[in-house]
Amino acid sequence: MAQDLFPGGMVWLVGAGPGDPDLLTRKAERLIARADVVFHDALVGAGVLALCREEAQLVPVGKRSGRHSKSQEEIDRMIVEAALAGLRVVRLKGGDPSIFGRSAEEMTACHDAGVPFAICPGITAASAAAASLGTSLTLRGLARRLTFVTAHARAGEDLELDWAALADPGSSLAVYMGKAAAGAIARGLMGAGLDPATPVAMVENASLPDERVFTTRLDLLELGARTALGDGPALLLIGAPIAGARLAGNRCGDNHAVVASQTQA
Ligand code: SAH
Repeated sequence: MAQDLFPGGMVWLVGAGPGDPDLLTRKAERLIARADVVFHDALVGAGVLALCREEAQLVPVGKRSGRHSKSQEEIDRMIVEAALAGLRVVRLKGGDPSIFGRSAEEMTACHDAGVPFAICPGITAASAAAASLGTSLTLRGLARRLTFVTAHARAGEDLELDWAALADPGSSLAVYMGKAAAGAIARGLMGAGLDPATPVAMVENASLPDERVFTTRLDLLELGARTALGDGPALLLIGAPIAGARLAGNRCGDNHAVVASQTQA
């Protein structure tokens, strides 16, 4: 990487991908290896953080539902202050920074303070989950549209989604932060007319050694979400393409059990 891509005083918003360090981009790896300070989310795993320089300062600013360690304003301020002090700043975010990553606030803070910034994209959780499942997110003729939606409601507020728009049999849905709301999502979609037999999958810790997957149908989603998952981040996929999931061939690495391959031709 040219030296001047990352001068002191600059902020890079870097996508850390879904967890497996091998799913970082080469650029992300190089930026991480040059940073003086790395502000990272709770979801960024040890394997990725291990790529930081030994002298680099690692600052967890993680937000997991209900356990906010830093407010967004504090994070914005910390990033800007570090850059104004002349440091090379990496803001490391799970997946892709531009998807449910609060990157807009951080870019605005940098812009307002005159701090130069740039984004390095990452592999988003939906892509990793589809890979783990061995499925496509789109399907010619059957799922022409892919919708990324978050099911995270503000504390004390109900989930307000446009169910009529989402309950489209010709579309696939990737639901981020949807585990706790799985029952409400299923009811909302079925209430708006989506077939209860629509295939769904949940992938927890996609790309990591402790990944867990289950596939079911929409009307059984709540039960599955309650019983089949642990407390890791989970991505919910809903739609016709999930019916074609082929779990076996996609699993690689010593820690992944190879799921029986009956579904493979
Ligand atoms: N910017 C991130 C999303 C942040 S929102 C991205 O592009 O992936 C956090 C949500 O992402 C989690 O609640 C979960 O729904 C999903 N997620 C992140 N990492 C995941 C993983 N390894 N496996 C499954 N879901 C994941």
